[in-house]
Amino acid sequence: MKSELIARYPIIERISREEELFWANPQKTSFSLAQTELGYADIIDASERLKRFEPLIRYFYPEVKNGVIESELTLINGMRDRFFPQIKGNLYLKRDDSLPVAGSVKARGGIYEVLKHTEELALEHGILKGTDDDYLKLKDHRDFFSEYKVQVGSTGNLGMSIGLISAKIGYCAIVHMSSDAKKWKKDYLRQHGVTVKEYDSDYTEAVGNGREESSRDPRSYFVDDENSRNLFLGYAVSALRLKNQLRIDANNKTSFYLPCGVGGAPGGICFGLKQIFKDDVNVYFAEPTKCCSMLLGQITGLHHDISVKDIGLSGITEADGLACPSPSGFVGREIENLLDGIYTCSDNELYRYEKELFDAEGIFIEPSSCAAFKGLELVRDDGNSHVIWATGGILVPENERERFLRKYIND
Ligand SMILES: *Cc1c(COP(=O)(O)O)cnc(C)c1O
Repeated sequence: MKSELIARYPIIERISREEELFWANPQKTSFSLAQTELGYADIIDASERLKRFEPLIRYFYPEVKNGVIESELTLINGMRDRFFPQIKGNLYLKRDDSLPVAGSVKARGGIYEVLKHTEELALEHGILKGTDDDYLKLKDHRDFFSEYKVQVGSTGNLGMSIGLISAKIGYCAIVHMSSDAKKWKKDYLRQHGVTVKEYDSDYTEAVGNGREESSRDPRSYFVDDENSRNLFLGYAVSALRLKNQLRIDANNKTSFYLPCGVGGAPGGICFGLKQIFKDDVNVYFAEPTKCCSMLLGQITGLHHDISVKDIGLSGITEADGLACPSPSGFVGREIENLLDGIYTCSDNELYRYEKELFDAEGIFIEPSSCAAFKGLELVRDDGNSHVIWATGGILVPENERERFLRKYIND
């Protein structure tokens, strides 16, 4: 398969050598011509659903201001000046590393999907009389929800997000963790009443097992990271809220750099950004050189039917949140005409950026998040502002942080 792919798409030879590179998407169109299954109204629907749940979120998590799970946009021109002098405009960090509850971008999609499922169950069983009912009452129905299961397959962070909110509502929560998942994430989940099933295999297999186990139980709901429209829309809502954080228009074109695993989080955010800001935003995905599955899916158009292993890559990377050997087919098709490009970043560079960000700004983010910075060197676009989308970090334990920060010097 590898040699046939290379014959057809020569760039795959460089990808198979684990070269860092930038690929500009030839299928990208202007926003008005882009073909997508979902639209602007779907983002508004998701945003209004989240609003209905604000009182419940505020009750569960008093630290979450107004019950809105959102993050700040931080100017990091100190890092720009020291390490990316070629960048002309402002450099920002979108702080999903510190999203409350789950400590990563997954708090957007994961929590949204569990709340949507909860709303459906509650309406069906008369717990909620309608969507204008008081959603706070859901806190008093743990016994009801404990009869239902919520399951998910994950490299770590999606499991954290789905597991924590599900257990909070009262569900029996089961997370199927791939071998990439860090031990501290499994421990954290177990401490919060979530059942963790561990696999020796990769993400694609953990998801497959979870999906199969859930399908045998009519009271079980499976959050399907590879196909879920709900997760996707939960992520997309972030773009609507960004309107209040940054002025983006034809005079302030803005470029976004998003770390990509299976594609759900960056795909949903890309979709949202394009729906809201149209051609005034450029969106790029970052992937590890050893696991650039969305890149292969887009180049070949094979989407979910290709794996990085088909071209001899291991798929094993320190960017644990991005270790998905095959991309989502749904997301791959949905963003085909929207995405501006994809670039790849080697593992050692992750540690360099991690250290530079820490030295310049005193901010720590997960290695997976750091892949985004490579875009500032490889993409070279003309955006007036640049936003690095940090995707995880706040819950990483102190000893892990120190291990990561030491790594660049030692290697
Ligand atoms: C999940 C994750 C991503 C990417 O999201 P996908 O939906 O898998 O593409 C990026 N960074 C971190 C830290 C993550 O946990």
